[in-house]
Amino acid sequence: MKRASLVLSMLLGAGLLRAAEIPTPKSVFGFRPGDDYHLANYAQIVEYYRKLDAASDRIRVLEIGPTAEGRSLILAVISSEANMAKLERYREISRRLALARGVTDEEARALAREGKAIVWIDGGLHASEVAHAQHTPELAWKVASEESDEMKRIRDDVILLQVPVMNPDGLDIVVRWYNKNRGTPYETAPLPELYHKYVGHDNNRDWYMFNMPESRNVARYLYDLWFPQIVYNHHQSAPFPARIFVPPFDDPMNPNIPPLFMRGIQLVGHAMTNRFEAEGKSGVISRIGFDTWWNGGLRTAPYFHNQIGILTETALYRYAHPHTYQPSELPKTFSNGWPTDQPTTYYANPWKGGWWGLRAPIEYMLTGSMAVLDIGSKYRRDWLYNIYQMGKWAIEAGQKGGPFAYVIPAEQWDSNTAVRLIQVLRIGGVEVHRATAAFTAEGKPTGSYVILMAQPFHAYVRDLVEPQRYPDRKLNGVPLRPYDMTGWTLSYQMGVNVVTVDAPFEAPLEQVDKPELRPGRVPAGPAAAYAFTHRKNDSFRAASRLLAAGDAVCWAAEKIAAGGRELEAGTMIVLAGNGTQGRVETAARELGIDFTPLDARPTTPLLRLRAPRLGLYKSWLGNMDEGWTRWLLEQFEFPYTSVADADLRKGDLKSRFDVIVLPSMTPEQMVNGWPEGMMPPEYVGGMGLEGVAAIKEFVKAGGTLVAMDLAGDLVANELNVPVRDVLASTRPSEFYCPGSLLRVQIDNTHPIAWGMERDGVAFFVNSPAYDIGRGGTRESGDAPGEERPAPRNVRVIARYPGKNVLLSGWLLGEQYLQNRAAILEVAVGKGKAILLGFRTQFRGQPHSTFKLLFNSILYGPAVREVLP
Ligand SMILES: [Zn+2]
Repeated sequence: MKRASLVLSMLLGAGLLRAAEIPTPKSVFGFRPGDDYHLANYAQIVEYYRKLDAASDRIRVLEIGPTAEGRSLILAVISSEANMAKLERYREISRRLALARGVTDEEARALAREGKAIVWIDGGLHASEVAHAQHTPELAWKVASEESDEMKRIRDDVILLQVPVMNPDGLDIVVRWYNKNRGTPYETAPLPELYHKYVGHDNNRDWYMFNMPESRNVARYLYDLWFPQIVYNHHQSAPFPARIFVPPFDDPMNPNIPPLFMRGIQLVGHAMTNRFEAEGKSGVISRIGFDTWWNGGLRTAPYFHNQIGILTETALYRYAHPHTYQPSELPKTFSNGWPTDQPTTYYANPWKGGWWGLRAPIEYMLTGSMAVLDIGSKYRRDWLYNIYQMGKWAIEAGQKGGPFAYVIPAEQWDSNTAVRLIQVLRIGGVEVHRATAAFTAEGKPTGSYVILMAQPFHAYVRDLVEPQRYPDRKLNGVPLRPYDMTGWTLSYQMGVNVVTVDAPFEAPLEQVDKPELRPGRVPAGPAAAYAFTHRKNDSFRAASRLLAAGDAVCWAAEKIAAGGRELEAGTMIVLAGNGTQGRVETAARELGIDFTPLDARPTTPLLRLRAPRLGLYKSWLGNMDEGWTRWLLEQFEFPYTSVADADLRKGDLKSRFDVIVLPSMTPEQMVNGWPEGMMPPEYVGGMGLEGVAAIKEFVKAGGTLVAMDLAGDLVANELNVPVRDVLASTRPSEFYCPGSLLRVQIDNTHPIAWGMERDGVAFFVNSPAYDIGRGGTRESGDAPGEERPAPRNVRVIARYPGKNVLLSGWLLGEQYLQNRAAILEVAVGKGKAILLGFRTQFRGQPHSTFKLLFNSILYGPAVREVLP
């Protein structure tokens, strides 16, 4: 008896010791997550996870790759000790069930019995939404250390994958800014920069294109290694005054999504709302604003992979600054007309105001995360079996055909970009094959890559290569705003010809893991010059490198003859100089560009390029389009200088720059910037009228101004040019196109469009459309679709067709676009303004229109010459 109790007390003592050894977040940070005026930065959070890993056998911390600024992303795996000892087995079960191939229903049931639910909960991508990254350490601590019956059950049934901070660079930008301003009048000031090196909020718009390293690193864990059945991504933009948005989501529903997925999301959503009410947490809202149409976010791309993608949007005040809301501050209705002060089905417990410091959203997030872990545990076998079932059905659908396969012919306008399309599909977990010999299918062109639709992520492929048909959704005649884009067909955006084959066929195929560019060819022997295509985007990389090395790079202004062939106007030419041959060979090998040697220098006219002195306007408003442009310029190795408002206002721009690029912003945003009093003085005010005058002066003196999308209105308004944005005065009930792919006709005989196909695709996002012949944007009253001859100083390079403008997405009021100009060159004084009137590089996606930007930059300062 005495002996037994001694053993018992030793055991208890060991248990207590064990709990005491697991460090709390406060023991590392020096404050509890959510304490007023305190934010943990990335180094503190990583340090905490390392200590947790060292103290507990229930957690393992992995480094999963670098961020844009070179920090290391970490992922924590948390479960019971017993599960942690068999992680590889559970990962294999999850993977086999998700891929569904070669598994019978009976085996799937056995695997679902044996396996553990894989639940992904991350610390959010949007760094100014500060609470989620502060909540993750506390969640990790709870799951690793709490000894409640519920938590023991969760640890037994669930393997939690946690990326505590999805955007470490952004977290540190925000924490630095907040700490600098804390205790000053600017404590709650918005950021004067993006909260990511390049893309800010658009880091959650990158989940099929995977341009950013963070997206690629995480995709590996979602679609290649772990295949979680539930993916929960935290945010902080609740519809005010609700305290949290929780699924079910709103309509419309993307028809490619499996219905079983939609029911699963509702099951999780109801478990969440139920837990909030059981804990007495009010202000929980569902079915408003956040729809399931769009693909490309961290919660939405998983839908197309049969994973339950969850997003919640908890209410945010500002950083770690507390606030108490008076009932009088709350609006009476939500945007969709629901009352905010009366219970309704999807807002059953209205929030009536009160205190909202940082601790409050953290508590809500802990409730949301716990609800997901709990339902992950309770339906463990169902989640595992259902992901198998959805995968199996997808494979079966593909075997039947309609479509049976998508074939990517070898012959492409830009074959390198076709390889890039395959590469991004592979990152998204798509199975791709390559033909090892010629074959025929429905008499259509066949070729190198084949995507068989008998695959578990069938829905994902369809969604990325078929056009979207967004339903007409209106309230009282006014279109209802979609959550994000309505059309995004990736093959259209990238200009890659993808052929649909409906009926089953046989072909000699091998599976492809990482498709690589075919190295380019340079025939041996001496040459006076080398010609290379203008059609491939990668040719601009080659041109950038050659220009940087001091080579003479030109565009053929007319067709030229070379070795019995005729090369089209625009063909790129590098004249052979010291060391050119070696540089050409390297470029061919690395960039997949063929170079054609020329026996003699061309005698026809050329446009001689120069490495442009390029200024990229950077507003303190933190413009994502600027970030994407900067990123794209770096990818294609264009040197540039960022130009802030004060630099512009100094004037004399022509002595510093050949080309100035204005990313998409309204003239008001550019001119006014942040209002006085909102920000520290150095960030207040935009370019001002002085800046506008300096830009005018720059163009008149011979500079090239490239105005992207909405920035074109600055040219139309301020440069006294005969160009008018006809959409500036339309109402949404007349014209609405918030994010679609449109047909556009391109004059590819003009240098700005050299290397492009005549039938183009425009990414249109509330963009302008130009009437030429009259200036200003503020008049209205023109008959839609009326075509005018262009005045002598205006050259139209692209315009919308007279019918069938919509390719993918949603377009209301097509007649306002018909025959209107989209891309213009306007001569002003000795210089020119180039208006790129749609999103030529939107989120780094429309590869087929990157050339419009690149050409504009190089064409501006190019000089026409005939070689002696
Ligand atoms: Zn967010």
